[in-house]
Amino acid sequence: MSIEKFTPNWMTEEHQMVHDSALKMFQSWEPKDEQWRKNGMIDRAAWEEAGAMGFLCASIPEEYGGGGGDFGHEAALLYAQAEANQSGFGGMVHSGIVAPYILSHGTEAQKKEWLPKMATGEYVAAIAMTEPGTGSDLQNIKTYAVKDGDDYIINGSKTFITNGQHANLILLACKTDREKGAQGVSLIVVETDKVEGFERGRNLDKIGLTSQDTSELFSAMYVCRKRICLAQ
Ligand SMILES: Cc1cc2nc3c(=O)[nH]c(=O)nc-3n(C[C@H](O)[C@H](O)[C@H](O)COP(=O)(O)OP(=O)(O)OC[C@H]3O[C@@H](n4cnc5c(N)ncnc54)[C@H](O)[C@@H]3O)c2cc1C
Repeated sequence: MSIEKFTPNWMTEEHQMVHDSALKMFQSWEPKDEQWRKNGMIDRAAWEEAGAMGFLCASIPEEYGGGGGDFGHEAALLYAQAEANQSGFGGMVHSGIVAPYILSHGTEAQKKEWLPKMATGEYVAAIAMTEPGTGSDLQNIKTYAVKDGDDYIINGSKTFITNGQHANLILLACKTDREKGAQGVSLIVVETDKVEGFERGRNLDKIGLTSQDTSELFSAMYVCRKRICLAQ
């Protein structure tokens, strides 16, 4: 069956070029797909390949290592990924959700430190909101962070976290004030290699997205020096 090429009307010529070259990369992953599905995750090297090709953080300004594009570039990449049936790559969470949070709310020093590493694939990013007992009703999360000097001590567990096995930068939703409902929720950046007490749980067995590492995460206690607090 031949599939007719369809160009969405929002795509500019440049979006189209990004789409076409990304499609080639995603299609080149096809021979590895069966093994990745068996492994329950794509290879870590695929992230670095995407970074080297300029397909990570495409909408982040060039001064922070990104592609200097707009959200249409992220959409064009996702479109190409879907066309190639590469459902395991969590690039949209990394580039389309976590990177914009850092860009919008990080200090200049934080943006300069984290975004270039995300653009190359040295850092794989995840966002951890959902917990075993809390999904949509985010203000009821139980993960709690207590300030200790310049650090936070965090206790809690998360589940269904996309990129959960590969991620080494996790934007973690937690309560910093239990009395304030939604206003007491903050996002804290956790660089997993730089904290103590962080553990990854099971890579969840799913009926679809079988090459995507959707995982449990735990912290008996971990401390992070750099943080972004939002939603106040
Ligand atoms: C493949 C996959 C990847 C994911 N990746 C991430 C990730 O990277 N990070 C992350 O934090 N989470 C992630 N999630 C979790 C996802 O965000 C949650 O599943 C989602 O927030 C819903 O939560 P829940 O499953 O607990 O469902 P619930 O919140 O328990 O909802 C169950 C049902 O009740 C309905 N419902 C809920 N509240 C109401 C209401 N007030 N009124 C009417 N109906 C309502 C919902 O629409 C739904 O149909 C992922 C999930 C999957 C499956």
